[in-house]
Amino acid sequence: MARPMANRNYYDVIIAGAGPSGMTAALSCARRGLTVLLADRNSQVGRKLLVTGNGRCNLTNTLQEPACYRSDNPDLAWARVRTFPAGDTMGFLKDLGIYLTDRDGYVYPYSGQAATVREAFERALDREPGIRVLTETRLVDMKAVHSEPVKKYPDRKTGPDRPVRFQLILEEDHEPAGKAGKRKKEEPRKKKERQSYYCGCLLLATGGLAGEKFGCQGDGYRFAVATGHKLVRRLPALTALKTSAPFVKRISGVRCPAQIEALTEGVLLARETGELQWTDYGISGVAVFQLSRHVILALEDQKKVEVRINFLPGMDRPDLMDLLYRLGGAFGKECLQDVFSGIFPSKLAQVLVRETRCDGNMAIDDLAAGDWDRICRAVLAFPLKISGYLGFEKAQTTRGGVLLTDLTDRLESRKTEGLFFAGELVDVDGTCGGYNLQWAFSSGHLAARGIINKMLP
Ligand SMILES: Cc1cc2nc3c(=O)[nH]c(=O)nc-3n(C[C@H](O)[C@H](O)[C@H](O)COP(=O)(O)OP(=O)(O)OC[C@H]3O[C@@H](n4cnc5c(N)ncnc54)[C@H](O)[C@@H]3O)c2cc1C
Repeated sequence: MARPMANRNYYDVIIAGAGPSGMTAALSCARRGLTVLLADRNSQVGRKLLVTGNGRCNLTNTLQEPACYRSDNPDLAWARVRTFPAGDTMGFLKDLGIYLTDRDGYVYPYSGQAATVREAFERALDREPGIRVLTETRLVDMKAVHSEPVKKYPDRKTGPDRPVRFQLILEEDHEPAGKAGKRKKEEPRKKKERQSYYCGCLLLATGGLAGEKFGCQGDGYRFAVATGHKLVRRLPALTALKTSAPFVKRISGVRCPAQIEALTEGVLLARETGELQWTDYGISGVAVFQLSRHVILALEDQKKVEVRINFLPGMDRPDLMDLLYRLGGAFGKECLQDVFSGIFPSKLAQVLVRETRCDGNMAIDDLAAGDWDRICRAVLAFPLKISGYLGFEKAQTTRGGVLLTDLTDRLESRKTEGLFFAGELVDVDGTCGGYNLQWAFSSGHLAARGIINKMLP
């Protein structure tokens, strides 16, 4: 996106990454009179927004509680979110011209299209004369220069009282995101131009490791480490789980309600209820996404993980026996296979009968106590060994990142003055339901407040 602003190399704030956190911060800073350079590797701002919420963009959630935000420092994460809560996010989005709808607390654009959210941000950025947007432009290097004399930057136009703390190298990045290193030999490499910029504050909002094809390759972590920051171990979160159980190929595509417990060596890790989706590699769906954070950590620590699935959430053994007898017709004469087929999707019913190791043609009334044990286990605690998970390329977010205790309450580095962090790069990941975008909006605003305080004391 070309900007009419005169070309120059000093800005009050330079923001690397035009995701929701970076764009939010840019707008907040510019509205207070700061000059902003917003650079993104992609050819358009807010690229990843397009795929959020299955293309519908679950922007936030009116139900907010500490458990929705996960971190090595969960109290700090929650304290930061509360400074710009869901109500503020909704007000901010409405001011951008985005009409919202609330579905049982889940907030979406009324249009039902994530693209309209991205475009509203793009228009808002365009309207701010203080913002210059550079797309296809990647932050490749940075250094703190605050000790160097100010006269070295002759085109600094903002005023003598504005500090110069960083020198950055931005590079035109024509490499399609996700294709780095995959270019065919015969494809000519476009010449990349590098340019030096200076700024008073630098905001790193380059996202995490989830969604490489949207430009996120973890660049921000490199700069964080180079400026003295510790990183909390980074792993995929909100992703699907794999199993080597061969039957999953037969029921791939089946969806059913379930309560799922994840256990490692007999100890309960977490429990979730929701729609379960069977795939040809394992299990997916919101409940699985929510569990994945706990499961992945255990797998990475070389622990064995099993999930137990209750296909009739809320029911126990007496409830199940009562149900099967009722559906078994007069005197329980219907056979097990037919009764299961009246409850579950047919492919799943076949798998469940097989798991019970009972004769599917046996009448309910003829089942022995041992049969009932196996039936209850199959339906109420179906065991499935988890062998792996889908990685960052499929995950919705990154667990871990820049340690919160290294940042002030306005997300400024405690190691390098004038350096701020926001969004997925920081050690905060939300549960499914709009909480990751809420964190992006909260942290973008918070960092902007810090930058404004720093630049306009
Ligand atoms: C498939 C999918 C569905 C999702 N659905 C939802 C949902 O419905 N609700 C929800 O709350 N969350 C959802 N999320 C998560 C949400 O998209 C992210 O949490 C959020 O986008 C993170 O915002 P961010 O500002 O930190 O960074 P990002 O949105 O990741 O943006 C970072 C930007 O930085 C740019 N960048 C990277 N490195 C550089 C560099 N060196 N120089 C310049 N630019 C750089 C990238 O090109 C990118 O545009 C989903 C994620 C995925 C992958």
